[in-house]
Formats: sequence, C-alpha cells, structure tokens
Amino acid sequence: MAHREEQQTIAALATPPGKGSIAAIRISGPRAFSCVNGLLLAKRSLENFQSNRIFVAWLHSAEGEALDQVTLVRYQAPRSYTGEDVVEIFCHGGRLVPNLIIERLCALGCRLAQPGEFTQRALRNGKLDLIQAEAVADLIDAESPAYLRGALTHLEGAFSRQLEELRAKLVHACAMLELGLDFSEEDVEFADRAELQRELMLLDKMIANLLHGFARGQALKEGWRIAIIGKPNVGKSSLMNALLRYERVIVSDIPGTTRDTIDERVFINGLLFRLIDTAGIREHAGEIETIGIERSRAVAQNADVILFVTDDSQNGDEADLALAKECLALKNKGERVALIHVKNKFDLPAATRSFLFDEKNVQALRVSALSGSGIAELEHAIAASVLPLSNLSSAEVQHINLRQKLCLEQARVALSNALSSLDKNLSAEFIAVDLREVIHQLGVLIGEVTTEDVLGEIFSKFCIGK
Ligand code: GDP
Repeated sequence: MAHREEQQTIAALATPPGKGSIAAIRISGPRAFSCVNGLLLAKRSLENFQSNRIFVAWLHSAEGEALDQVTLVRYQAPRSYTGEDVVEIFCHGGRLVPNLIIERLCALGCRLAQPGEFTQRALRNGKLDLIQAEAVADLIDAESPAYLRGALTHLEGAFSRQLEELRAKLVHACAMLELGLDFSEEDVEFADRAELQRELMLLDKMIANLLHGFARGQALKEGWRIAIIGKPNVGKSSLMNALLRYERVIVSDIPGTTRDTIDERVFINGLLFRLIDTAGIREHAGEIETIGIERSRAVAQNADVILFVTDDSQNGDEADLALAKECLALKNKGERVALIHVKNKFDLPAATRSFLFDEKNVQALRVSALSGSGIAELEHAIAASVLPLSNLSSAEVQHINLRQKLCLEQARVALSNALSSLDKNLSAEFIAVDLREVIHQLGVLIGEVTTEDVLGEIFSKFCIGK
C-alpha cells in the first residue's frame, strides 16, 4: 500500500550536481534514521549519535563495500528544518559518490524529493509560514544585496508577525461587531467605531506602503524600466541603440511583459535598467501610427522613467503635444515616475518652433542619438532620477512577490469597502462582511488558508533538495 505523502521518507542532493569538493544529501521523514543506518556498518546506529551534532562515518554499499567516508548530522524531530527526523550527509562531491548514496537510500525505502518538498514539509509542520517559505526561494534567487536583505527580513519573520498582529486585531474587531449584531434590538454596540476606523486606516496605509514596495522591489531585482516615447522618426530606436552601445553592456534579450515589446537590460552608471523597446512597432506589416502609439502608451504605463523624445530639427506639432500630455499624465499619476524630455537630432539645425514643455519641472536635454553627443548627460539624468529609490533601506523596499501583492490588493479593496461603510455609518453586518474578507486575504498571505494548487505553484519554483 502506498504510504501517505507525509509518511514517506524523502531524499535529495541539496548541493548543485557536478564536481565539487563536498556534496550534501538530505533525508527527511519517519524512516530517515533507519534508511541511513542501512549504509552504516552493522554495529553503528544513528540512534546512538547525539542529535544536531556532526559525526564522521563510513558508508557502505549493499554488498558491504565502502562508498565514502562522510560527515553526517542527525536531527531528531521536531528540531530540524522540516520538523521531521532529518539526516544530512556531507560526502565527497562529483557525480558518482552522491548518486550511489542516494540510490542506496532509495533501495532502503526513501524516494527522491520533489522540488521544494523539504520546505513544503517545514511549512506543513509549522516550522515556517508561507511568507518565510517564499523567502527561502528568494534568498537562493537573490542577485542584489538589497534584494537579499528583503528576503532575509521575511525569513526572520518580522513581516509575518506584523501581519499576524493585524489579523488578530481585525478578528477581534469583527467579533465585537458581530456580537453587537446579536444584541441589535437592545441597541448596544460592542465595537468602538472610531477606534476601528483608526485601525483600518492604519492598515490601509500599511498595505499601500507594501504595494509601493512591490514596485521598488521588482525594480531592484529586475531593473528600472525605461520607456522611450515619441512620434515615429524622432529617433527612438537610434536613442535606444545609443544607450545600449554607449555602455557596451547589452546583457540579454528577455521577453517583455507584452508580446510586442522586447526588453534590453543595460547598466547605466552602475544601476540596472530595462530599456523597453517599442521601436519595432512601426515596422509591423500594415501597422498604422495610432496603433504604434497605443502600444507605447501601454508600455509607458509601467515605466519608472519615461524618455519623451522629440525631433528638435522639426517644428513641434499636435502629435508631439498629444503624446507629451499623456507622458505628463503618467508622471503625475505614478508614485515616483521620472519624465525626461529628450530633444534629439541636436546635430541638425534647430527648428524655429521646437517642442517645449510648459511645465518647469520637466528636465529637457539636447542629444544627438546619431553622433552620441549629450548621451552621457542623459545617462546621468536617468540614473539620478531613480537614485534616491535605489538607496532605499530594506524597510522601504518591501520585498513582496506577485502572489503576495495580489492578496494585498484584494485585502485593500475589502478594506476600503469597510471604511466607506463605516463612513456612511452603515450597520455592523456590512462592515463585518468586508472585514472577514480582509482577514481571509491576510490568512491567504501568511498561508493559514491555502489550497494545494497554490502550494504546488509556489513550490514548483524551488530547487530540488530545498
Ligand atoms: P524612431 O522611429 O523614433 O525609432 O526613429 P529612428 O531611430 O528610426 O530614426 C529615424 C531617422 O532619424 C533615421 O533615419 C535616423 O538615422 C535619424 N536619426 C535618429 N537620430 C538622429 C540624430 O540624432 N541626428 C540625425 N541627424 N538623425 C537622426
């Protein structure tokens, strides 16, 4: 009969496969000790080893031949990463030795672990919550120190505790509201509405901050997004090439968020940017100008820096004006979107009525994408426009992933409904319904309420052995 999942003992290589001085093998589950005992010499038994201490041992094949001399640690449940009985074996690296050991373990009753299965067990056994489990994956993925700091903060559990606290307060507030409903005929209220309103507003502010943090966290991980906007022929592609060529650090092509755009990663003054290419748009067969503009608009929606390009050798026209207005609207809408007016084709004689922004606070720079003059100044301006953001402390750069962001957004919708019901002095039941939804979403966020689908999705991104 097949064992139930949690009764199975899993084993996996926890270090990257291939040549290396040491490889780590992890075993977790009820039969972890007995399986490893099967590799030790008959008179030795893991049970005689002290828990959480390192030992040296020889491991043997089924025929009693020596496989390797290793160090190992036995972790007695629940004092282990997964909360189950765990053994970690540190053997010599390379392909053969670790494989022979794992094969032997499987013959003795282990099965190979799925990606993230150790962490999933840790989650199930309450060793971690979902946010901490996700932080483990992020920690492994981290490529920048700021991103790492964020992951560590979450792993440490401060964020989870903060959410738990808020959730507990809401549960209490909700209980009070609902208690009031039971006594509604006697016209008593157990909930202090003014107090509740204050707390909900605080929560709303906190969620808003977290959501802003999402954008900043993404930028640190993936680069600040630059959108180059302008009429056809003003020199957008040339500018893009100039920015890429100038630094000579074209890192890679990665597919953009929409199918019609391409991102190019580039370091500008040491900061990572993603130049979102809308330039190819015009070349699409039969593509008309307005569609091109539509696409640019969609790209600009998500940009951190908008480069609005005009051809300074031509008189400004209605189309420039219309695009400029849109860029301004995006700048004003966005939390911290930078807008820079790039007056291109500086090498040509200037037009008599070149396009100018009315706004004083839009920085304008003259460049020639063709000759490269002014590009260095433009790069300074681009880097400076995001620099304050790139120096944010880890508290400001909240480390939020997409799943967490979606939960927070839903919580915020319910929260604002509850606040508006409070504002209108509606009956407690309306408020309670929305608060229940906020509580639910916070529960989903921490992982108190999850479905197998969600867990499967999260853990499929883990590496094997974690
Ligand atoms: P886009 O449609 O905005 O992407 O514009 P392109 O980059 O394709 O440029 C349109 C035309 O303007 C091309 O012939 C470019 O060589 C030319 N061009 C671009 N930048 C400059 C510049 O700084 N000076 C001059 N003289 N020509 C430029």
